[in-house]
Parts: sequence; structure tokens; C-alpha cells
Amino acid sequence: MSVTFLGLGNMGGPMAANLVKAGERVIGYDPVTAARAAADAVGITIAGSAVTAVAGADVVITMLPSGAHVLDCYREVVPRAKPGTLFLDCSTIDVADARAAAEIAAAAGHLAVDAPVSGGVVGAEAAKLTFMVGGPVEAVAAAEPYLRHMGARSVHCGDAGAGQATKICNNMILGISMIAVSEAFALGARLGLTDQALFDVASTASGQCWALTTNCPVPGPVPTSPANRDYSGGFASGLMLKDLRLAQAAARAAGVTTELGQHAADLYARFVDHDGPGRDFSAIITSIRDQDGT
Ligand code: NAD
Repeated sequence: MSVTFLGLGNMGGPMAANLVKAGERVIGYDPVTAARAAADAVGITIAGSAVTAVAGADVVITMLPSGAHVLDCYREVVPRAKPGTLFLDCSTIDVADARAAAEIAAAAGHLAVDAPVSGGVVGAEAAKLTFMVGGPVEAVAAAEPYLRHMGARSVHCGDAGAGQATKICNNMILGISMIAVSEAFALGARLGLTDQALFDVASTASGQCWALTTNCPVPGPVPTSPANRDYSGGFASGLMLKDLRLAQAAARAAGVTTELGQHAADLYARFVDHDGPGRDFSAIITSIRDQDGT
């Protein structure tokens, strides 16, 4: 089987490398020279364009920045793929864009799956990603062996777009809960609590959540959390903002009011404006503290 991988950036590069390690023959393309060079160095055959990369492919995997990139790419390459090719999009994009991409592929006689990921660059490098999968059973079954090479777990969430829907709902919980945990630490400090005392109780009581126990926004209680290294690494605030905005776009399209989700998107927009998009999303605690001089 021949696998084509389009988008060899921070996530796609290591994901494609893991397919090579698993013994797959991988042809790749990325418009960025450095991404192509890094992929070439790990055994990916570099094509001259996305269109030439898909000729003869059995599977086409995309890991691209946005829904517009995915739709542009599909419009370009889908007509050039041989009938029955499996299109597997792992990018995080709007639910409506994911459904539109699946329709483009299906209308041309291909199989299509959306499979956005959780786990970040560390998970991509270690082949420990979780895939949230949307698409018909037959297409999902065909995608499974490739997902296994790149991740630790995959969950079939429903039809086309269901993977993206799951991802943005999960990340809306995460963005809101990180703000809640950060506000609690800011208030606790003002009330004279040590961070450790609040952590020791909340982490084993009803305040327990991933934002507290794994990605704790204050240094100390969880030594591996990005707060201990000035919020470097981890899940970038800019990507959290992107996902919160995707959640709001989906909520508007579905006619659902998600007030805390909207508020979280506004707070992350303000934070990214001020701090930039690069630090881990738990750094939002610095702006929550700054506003009251805590
Ligand atoms: P990135 O910008 O590092 O990589 C995207 C790559 O796609 C770039 O190298 C770009 O040149 C390439 N590209 C654009 N158009 C292309 C085309 N037509 N053909 C081939 N390549 C093309 O971004 P990333 O961090 O790797 O993220 C990729 C996707 O994964 C995004 O949708 C992001 O939201 C999602 N994601 C990222 C993380 C993370 O921690 N970085 C975590 C989960 C999900």
C-alpha cells in the first residue's frame, strides 16, 4: 500500500515518520522547504507537488492548518486520486468544513474519514495520539491500521464530522476548566492559601480535572506541567483560541448557546493579543492574576 502525507509540519512530520517506522511506504509534500528536508531525512519520499504526491496513492492523509487549507487541498488533489482512495484528514477544522471535505471525496468515489487528534507534538512523536474519528464504518475500518501506527487510541464517534465535533467539545471543556482552575488559584492565593494546599484538596476532591492534575497552571504541585518551565512546550494558547473559536462557530451553526464557551474564547483572544500565541494555554493564569495585581 502506498501512503501520501500532505502537511509535514509540527504534527504531520512526526506522524508521517511513525508510518515509515511501521514499515509503510510514504510519499509526502509540504510547501515549506524545511519541512520537506526534515521529512526526507526520516525516509519519506518527497514529491514535487501535492497533486503528484497523490498519483497512485491508496491512502491520502492530511495534517493542515485550517478548514480552508483542507478544502483547497481536496479540491485540487481529489480528482487526481485513483478511485477508492482512502482520504484521512487529521487536521482540526470546522465541523461544516469536515463534512464538506468528506462530500468532495465521496462524490469522486473515495472513502473519507475525519480523525482530529489530541496529544500534541509530544504525542505525535511518541505515536501516542488519541484520534476522534468520524465517517462510515467501512472507511473507519480501512483507516484503523494507519491510526494504530500513529496513535495509542481511536474512538469512532459517528458519521462525517463527528470526529471534529468531539474534538471541539472536548477542548471547550478544557479551555473553560483551565480558566476555572486559574481563577481558583488566584483567589486562593489572595485568601492566604498556598498553591500546594489548594492542590492537595482540589486534586482529590470535586474540583479534580485534567487542567488541575496534569497541566496545573502554577509551578510546584505537578512538576511536569508547563508552568514549571515558564509555560514553554505543551498546548499553545493560539491553538486553544483556534479550537474555542471553532466551537463557537459550530454552536452558532447548530443554534446552541454556550455562554461559558463564548466567554472562554473572548478571554483567550484577549490573552493571545497581549501575550502572543506561543506559550502553553495554562499561562492564562498570568493575565488572571495581573488584572487584580495578585
Ligand atoms: P503546522 O503549521 O506546523 O503544519 C501544517 C503544515 O501544513 C505546514 O508545514 C504547511 O506548510 C503545510 N501545508 C499547508 N498547505 C498545504 C498543502 N496544500 N499541501 C501540503 N502541505 C500544506 O501546524 P501543526 O501544529 O502541525 O498543526 C496541524 C493541524 O493539527 C492543525 O489543524 C492543528 O490545529 C492541529 N493540532 C495541532 C496540535 C499541536 O500541538 N501543534 C495539537 C492537536 C491538533
